[in-house]
Amino acid sequence: VPAARDRLRIAIQKSGRLSDPARALLASCGLSWRESRDRLFCYGETLPVDLLLVRDDDIPGLLADGVCDYGIVGRNVLDEQAALRAGEGRAQVSKEVRALGFGGCRLDIAVPEAWEWEGPQQLQGRRIATSYPGLLAKWLAEHEVEASVVMLSGSVEIAPRLGQADLICDLVSSGGTLLANQLKPVATIMRSEAVLAGPVQPFADIRGELAQMLLRRLDGVLRLKDSRLLLFQAQRDEVPGLLEMLPDAEQPTVLQVDGADTLALQALCHGAMTWQRLEDLKRAGARGLMVLPVERMLA
Ligand code: ATP
Ligand code: MG
Repeated sequence: VPAARDRLRIAIQKSGRLSDPARALLASCGLSWRESRDRLFCYGETLPVDLLLVRDDDIPGLLADGVCDYGIVGRNVLDEQAALRAGEGRAQVSKEVRALGFGGCRLDIAVPEAWEWEGPQQLQGRRIATSYPGLLAKWLAEHEVEASVVMLSGSVEIAPRLGQADLICDLVSSGGTLLANQLKPVATIMRSEAVLAGPVQPFADIRGELAQMLLRRLDGVLRLKDSRLLLFQAQRDEVPGLLEMLPDAEQPTVLQVDGADTLALQALCHGAMTWQRLEDLKRAGARGLMVLPVERMLA
């Protein structure tokens, strides 16, 4: 039984694609920190929530060992560790708690451009270079393909040119790196983004309450990401048509202005409020359209 603790500890990537967005997200939940001199630990000031700055690959292990309570990490890294654990017959101790909406990418099978892709069976007996042997093995098993997996921790995309492998299984976002190495993506093993990973078991001490508060704030922030408050006026008979154009609006408030015919509306909209949308609304009778950012929300 791990010792009771009265502070929450969150592991995030020290430097890399997820570092800045992870910190910004936690800061928007009202957290702030004092940084240690070695820049490995950030002491929570506004709340007893500390940060540990580490390599992303270490995050699942830190969670499993109970060194950290939560971690912000790519789903690809979390699920890879889970696949390896499952392969060794060990129980899962952490899980994805929230998807965070940044760091999006795919884990793809990519083959030399000259190949004509016919499906997974084509990989039978081939050598596949990857940093994700657990997820790849699972996918190969699902497709009943036997191939040899060449584990590389970096520069996977040049393995075919170096003759180390026939093809690769690697992370892709824009596809530019594949193209530069004369490879093309042919199948997607998983879709990934940054996630908040946390314990399978609930906390038995004060961390439980801290965690609940943090998750509540996080949900508020995630919900508001693209949300805007939309204000406008319209004639009463145009309102039903206008509301139909706002399927992403949450509980619109309708107020009567002068007389009975002009109504003022306000609605929290979750989709992007583009100029195009505003112009469409105007054509359908909306007047005095205004789009306001939403600072905070507590449901
Ligand atoms: P570390 O030094 O922490 O080990 P790293 O080099 O392993 O860093 P990054 O390249 O910063 O990690 O990527 C972190 C995460 O960003 C990935 O695990 C993945 O979830 C996500 N990501 C998004 N797009 C890409 C991409 N095009 N290539 C690699 N990772 C991507
Ligand atoms: Mg890494």
